Amino acid sequence: MQDYDVMQNRDPPQEPVAAEAEAKLLVKGVTKWFRTPRATVHALEDVSLSVAAGEFVCLVGPSGCGKSTLLDIMAGLTRPDAGRVLADGRLVEGPGRQRLVMFQESALFPWLNVFDNVMFGLKLVPELTKARRRGIAHHYLELVGLQKFARAHVHELSGGMKQRVALARALAPDPQVLLMDEPFAALDALTRDQLCDDVQRIAQESGKTIVFVTHNVREAVCLGDRVVLMAPRPGRIAEVFDIPLSRPRDMNADSLSGPTQRIAAALKATAGVGEARQ
Ligand code: ADP
Ligand code: MG
Repeated sequence: MQDYDVMQNRDPPQEPVAAEAEAKLLVKGVTKWFRTPRATVHALEDVSLSVAAGEFVCLVGPSGCGKSTLLDIMAGLTRPDAGRVLADGRLVEGPGRQRLVMFQESALFPWLNVFDNVMFGLKLVPELTKARRRGIAHHYLELVGLQKFARAHVHELSGGMKQRVALARALAPDPQVLLMDEPFAALDALTRDQLCDDVQRIAQESGKTIVFVTHNVREAVCLGDRVVLMAPRPGRIAEVFDIPLSRPRDMNADSLSGPTQRIAAALKATAGVGEARQ
């Protein structure tokens, strides 16, 4: 396939220009194909996105439009075929402590208790003394409201509590960027709303840069400074929406309804285009 040769020609690392250096995370012209014996999938086509320091950006789009692939590429877990990602103006070539990912499934270690799961995240910061690590682990468990469950085992926890532990574990090494892939998708609505409140509070207090994937438009509007709508086949950015609502935002507030309806309508339209192309 002719495209293939082009895809192998990676852009060489370049000196960042000023505007690029200002972005916390800069995705430039990212294209990704997956080839399996059974199929070739054009997962992302020419995706570009700039995320400012301290910004909360939500990615929404139908299943299969490349949200997770884009997040993995930002994390350095997956390599793009073309284009590149810069973090603080530097080329992302692999995973790094400054950009941690939190997944839909909490991916906790079942043989460790809650406290030790959070301590495990701190292995990424080997320069800390054990006493300091313990202090940090307690701090983040308190931040997510689980200080009383430090000695509990993972199987004793509800889904929401597991995601709180996963959040504490991701926050403990103090990454500058948190990449979250549908972290609340498996939770009931009430638990999800509570966690959204917590994530908003933590984002505001910590000033972290967050990229958050969800297929729930209201959740994206509640959390995001911007909502990036993606479209499928090939995965690409269809439209970017600014959400200038004041914070903290209540998931069930009326003020969220206008932007939610607009984005949901655009989502339906892009998904329809994708279907028609198939
Ligand atoms: P989303 O997170 O938006 O649901 P994904 O990024 O997971 O979408 O997937 C985008 C497309 O790429 C889908 O068609 C998916 O089947 C395909 N895909 C993702 N990962 C792989 C992989 N490792 N191998 C083959 N195909 C993949
Ligand atoms: Mg996904």
